[in-house]
Amino acid sequence: MSEDQYTFQNPVSRFPSISPPKQDQAEPGLDRDLEPQTDRGEDSYRGTGRLTGRKALITGADSGIGAAVAIAFAREGADVALSYLPEEEPDAQKVAGIIRDAGQKAALLPGDISEPARARDLVAHAVEQLGGLDIVVNNAGKQIAVEALEDLSDEQFADTFATNVFAMFWITKAALPHLKPGSTIINTTSIQAYNPSPTLIDYASTKAAINAFTKGLAQQLAPRGIRVNAVAPGPIWTPLQVSDGQLKEALPEFGKDTPLGRAGQPTELAPAYVFLASAESSYVAGETLNVNGGSPTP
Ligand code: NAD
Ligand code: MG
Repeated sequence: MSEDQYTFQNPVSRFPSISPPKQDQAEPGLDRDLEPQTDRGEDSYRGTGRLTGRKALITGADSGIGAAVAIAFAREGADVALSYLPEEEPDAQKVAGIIRDAGQKAALLPGDISEPARARDLVAHAVEQLGGLDIVVNNAGKQIAVEALEDLSDEQFADTFATNVFAMFWITKAALPHLKPGSTIINTTSIQAYNPSPTLIDYASTKAAINAFTKGLAQQLAPRGIRVNAVAPGPIWTPLQVSDGQLKEALPEFGKDTPLGRAGQPTELAPAYVFLASAESSYVAGETLNVNGGSPTP
């Protein structure tokens, strides 16, 4: 039997401690060109019917954490609409193929969600192509490291908020009329919300905003039977990190300062999203599930 996420194993050595070579990709970066390659669960994630018949929209679903979540959702029985940027078509096509191999529908919806009209259209197209919607995963993110505040441009500050916070608001608002009781919303925040790096002021601020948005909205929507939760990853090896998400010199040490001593792989995030999306978490709302290699959080 090959290994899957249920195989008893040492979390320290489940995945190798990587020392990624210095590398650079233009934003948004591709999983296809990442060195070393990431594990999105294509060869290991085993579904057990936990999301049978569900219909999910996932932003940033072409690569990294979003791709791992899309693969897991499909193997758990959900149809998936994939949001991503047009430049990411090769990564998106690959994930769509894995979803179709699982016997589920994959709707490919490229477009820049930092534009409000695009974000709203995305929801309409997802509903149309999936025939409804009951899971929304706001996972797309922009992260560009800048050493000095004087060098952090007004444009970057605004774009980071538009992608990470405003798009989540626009998409969630547009999705609400379609979400029946039992539906779930999951937002990707970050350990940066509590433990901001000096080089990620704009990004860390958006992640704190996502936490507050999640906890407030969870209380507002709970009486309507819609649960809102968040997942807070620690250092996960994805294309975000090599498209200026980290300073180049920081790459070889990426994730080594966690208690588990290594960076996480995208597939290690997937079970957290599956749990929060499925009915098994029916009494969990406004929660942030930290998946960060063991770093303490508030
Ligand atoms: P990733 O690069 O694979 O995913 C980010 C995705 O965001 C891209 O694939 C892209 O499709 C999407 N995106 C960015 N700007 C967009 C725009 N304007 N319009 C539409 N889509 C856009 O990297 P990832 O690390 O998997 O990131 C996923 C989420 O996880 C992000 O919210 C990120 O902040 C968060 N996160 C990542 C880490 C980490 O260490 N990798 C840690 C904490 C939180
Ligand atoms: Mg991508």
